[in-house]
Amino acid sequence: MAQPDLYPVPPEWAARAKVDAASYAQLHGRSLADPGSFWLEQARRLDWVKRPEIAGDWSFDEKDFHIQWFADGKLNAAANCIDRHLKERSDAVAIIWEPDEPGEEARSFTYRELHAEVCRFANVLKALGVAKGDRVTIYLPMIPEAAFAVLACARIGAIHSVVFGGFSPEALAGRIEDCDSKLVITADEGRRGGKRIALKANVDEAAARAPSLETVLVVRATGGEVTMSEGRDIWFDAVAQGVAADCPAEPMGAEDPLFILYTSGSTGKPKGVLHTTGGYLLWAAMTHDLAFDYVQGDVFWCAADIGWVTGHSYILYGPLANGATTLMYEGLPNWPDASRIWQIVDKHKVHTLFTAPTALRALMKDGDGPVRATDRSSLKLLGTVGEPINPEAWRWYHGVVGEGLCPIIDTWWQTETGGAMIAPLPGATDLKPGSATKPMPGVDPQIVDAEGQVLSGAAEGNLVIARSWPGQMRTVWGDHDRFFQTYFTTYPGKYFTGDGARRDGDGDYWITGRVDDVINVSGHRMGTAEVESALVAHPKVAEAAVVGMPHDVKGQGIYAYVTLNAGEEGGEALRDELRQWVRKEIGPIATPDALQFAPGLPKTRSGKIMRRILRKIAEGDVGSLGDTSTLAEPAVVGDLVANRVA
Ligand code: ATP
Ligand code: MG
Repeated sequence: MAQPDLYPVPPEWAARAKVDAASYAQLHGRSLADPGSFWLEQARRLDWVKRPEIAGDWSFDEKDFHIQWFADGKLNAAANCIDRHLKERSDAVAIIWEPDEPGEEARSFTYRELHAEVCRFANVLKALGVAKGDRVTIYLPMIPEAAFAVLACARIGAIHSVVFGGFSPEALAGRIEDCDSKLVITADEGRRGGKRIALKANVDEAAARAPSLETVLVVRATGGEVTMSEGRDIWFDAVAQGVAADCPAEPMGAEDPLFILYTSGSTGKPKGVLHTTGGYLLWAAMTHDLAFDYVQGDVFWCAADIGWVTGHSYILYGPLANGATTLMYEGLPNWPDASRIWQIVDKHKVHTLFTAPTALRALMKDGDGPVRATDRSSLKLLGTVGEPINPEAWRWYHGVVGEGLCPIIDTWWQTETGGAMIAPLPGATDLKPGSATKPMPGVDPQIVDAEGQVLSGAAEGNLVIARSWPGQMRTVWGDHDRFFQTYFTTYPGKYFTGDGARRDGDGDYWITGRVDDVINVSGHRMGTAEVESALVAHPKVAEAAVVGMPHDVKGQGIYAYVTLNAGEEGGEALRDELRQWVRKEIGPIATPDALQFAPGLPKTRSGKIMRRILRKIAEGDVGSLGDTSTLAEPAVVGDLVANRVA
């Protein structure tokens, strides 16, 4: 492939940013050479009830397996996100909330108002008997109460488990039962893209399959009709009237659990990822500050849902810990039309936009017009997360959305890592479309081969992290052995990410996709990301997913699913053209053996392509597609099966 383009740090960023190239190198070097003092110093980013004197205490070895950070420290996450800003910034806006309906008025909450809302919510939880250590399931739409509920749990030391409002009753029931939660917080209905989602009715259905559930706390959001079940269901407002306005923040041990979050399920049965208080919060705050060079007053918009880790770390915990103004949006990026996301940027003078490649590809389908129709001059920084970003989408984001002026912060990380692990810093890192570039301070990535041999210099293989970092998950809820087995046995003594990566001669990392998805064609190992990016680079292609299929001669062949841009027609001629295109872009070895035109691809509710299902279809094994409960639109599977290319 052609050499990747290089986008050097813009001089104004190098001059203005908190970290430049030289200080990044120094910071990263020191974080690995002297982790003890480095992390105790970083810990000063937080407000501690009792300041820690120990930093990391961990071992990834089986006989002494343990992970702890700042274990002797005490703090409260909600107090860090709210109370400590009251002295000097109580009238600064903490949360801007933009509703689904463009005509409806936006709302905003200052830190003082946020404090009052969260205290009231916390007192409601207490009135219902929720205590420190209890699990509380939050199944809410993207309304301000979702933020209040999360922070209220943190304030009283209850462990929140947020379940994305798009999940089915079955998926919700499984997540309630798995962590044995007795209380669910929900709303009458949610709204997204002009549609109503019957959240309370979903909880009613889930309750039948979740015997641990005792109480359902219902927030009135739309005023839609619901059935209240006597003795179990309680209106939030009814309890809130009688509670006190102040609620002291519970001092928590740094290693006390903060939340459980079930992973999105691209690869199998969801796991309850557990994060603890001190290390996680520090990681969210530090990475938000460094990767986005956050300056108080800037409007930060992470366009994820609070149901995903991205929403936890970069709508709530990271920005609020840093005293930021964070934007929360109820709806969809392309509703009522493809300009909405950019109109919101203009309306609230958004400084940083952080979104996912899947959203960008969906917006690109409609061309540049809807973007060009807006101003976007407030934008200074753009971020992406969730999947490898195809260079084509990266260039569009940079050139069209950012008018060539905004660095793109491509953050590689996982629910398990708590926050960004590999990402450029805008004042320090030269950018390459498709590369997440360099590790954050404290992150020690390695590329290993199948035998675990550490590869040095430019290399490609499996991505592991050789030492613990504060934001690391601490266990799989209720199954510590699964935690150890999943992440620490493939390459003993190291955290295995499950992702493949390439490191180039400059030390920049390129995530090649999940290791399970690597295709082995005639002995050549190929990441799915590269073939997909080549397809997406074709002017008629909107989206592509590539999987392996059994092949008599090559061992594995390449099966490609391709979604075309609006108005394009698939046919034999285009099929040949696309195969030749990939051949020319990457090489003959990457030529797809089968290519199916697909109007839609199976995605998780967070928008990631579920290759597990595509693999089964490509293999012709359509009888056992596995768990499809986390699919966003199960209907697309039927079409894919019917139009399978034999
Ligand atoms: P599950 O673990 O349940 O199968 P998931 O892995 O999709 O679901 P997340 O933790 O949300 O759940 O996603 C993390 C994964 O997303 C990473 O392991 C990686 O494969 C991919 N990813 C995230 N950000 C990037 C990025 N910037 N570049 C490349 N890949 C990314
Ligand atoms: Mg994962």
